[in-house]
Amino acid sequence: HAKRAGKNTFKFFDASLNKSALTRLRTENALRHALENEELRLHFQPQLDTRTGRMQGLEALLRWRHPELGEISPAVFIPIAEETGLILPIGEWVMRTACQQLRAWQASGSAIQRVAVNVSACQFKNRDFTNLVARILAESGLDPACLELELTESILMDHADESIGMLHQLKALGVQLAIDDFGTGYSSLSYLKRFPIDRLKIDKSFIYNIENDRDNAAIAQAVIAMAETMALHVTAEGVETREQLQFLSASCCGEVQGFFFSKPVPVDEVPETIRRLAEHHNGTDSGASGEG
Ligand code: C2E
Ligand code: MG
Ligand code: MG
Ligand code: MG
Repeated sequence: HAKRAGKNTFKFFDASLNKSALTRLRTENALRHALENEELRLHFQPQLDTRTGRMQGLEALLRWRHPELGEISPAVFIPIAEETGLILPIGEWVMRTACQQLRAWQASGSAIQRVAVNVSACQFKNRDFTNLVARILAESGLDPACLELELTESILMDHADESIGMLHQLKALGVQLAIDDFGTGYSSLSYLKRFPIDRLKIDKSFIYNIENDRDNAAIAQAVIAMAETMALHVTAEGVETREQLQFLSASCCGEVQGFFFSKPVPVDEVPETIRRLAEHHNGTDSGASGEG
């Protein structure tokens, strides 16, 4: 009897292992068809000037809704896309769609100045990446200065010497470069100085409870001071409360982004979101203040 129970236990364990492997395989297969089935779309989240409250740009964030599996988080499918190489065609679609969308908004009279696009390691390391960005900019007719590429510290530090060359190639196109999730990787400050970058985005983990958490406050203020010294722009991500905004404003953090102002919204909600943020800004004239 004991032996049988043990066997059953083993079978159960085996089956549950299979189930998670199956879920992963199913997700992976579904992702292979996500592009052609038009299941991907972009949401956009405003980035605001802390002092004036004006919107400076929008970050494009990828969304995937599968007809049966439902809405799947980028935290789940981006790593799968990276492991399978699917991030190359998907990333190209993101870049093209973001550039075309901003160009379309500008053509219809909107003053949106910038779209920020997240770039994965495999994209950045691909020999053809600079050419691809150049081609997409030319095809869309977007001013290269309106495109900001967000790269993480680990992507850049992984092969730091090669990264410097890649970044110079991209800068030669006229695009803006940002380091995303800054503070979560291991940046060598001597390399940071040699990277031709334009902006640091302070990771949202350091913005959490910043008005009470001394460590987070010290880290954020150190990054802001370092950015100032190196003549870099700085954005705080994950701003959810008025208290966080007030702290960042008093610390002279140039730009802010987060749920306090707006969550990432679908294309058709962007004009209304911009209107709401601008109205609030005109109404108070006291810098970024969100809906409170
Ligand atoms: P990220 O680039 O650091 O983007 C910021 C994430 O924080 C987004 O999550 C955004 O929705 C979320 N966020 C914004 N404001 C707040 C806030 O106030 N509080 C909190 N708690 N979260 C906030 P999302 O959209 O789920 O994306 C997660 C990550 O997936 C992104 O982090 C990025 O690394 C990756 N990702 C998203 N879209 C793309 C893409 O098109 N290409 C690549 N390569 N990666 C992408
Ligand atoms: Mg980002
Ligand atoms: Mg980030
Ligand atoms: Mg992040």
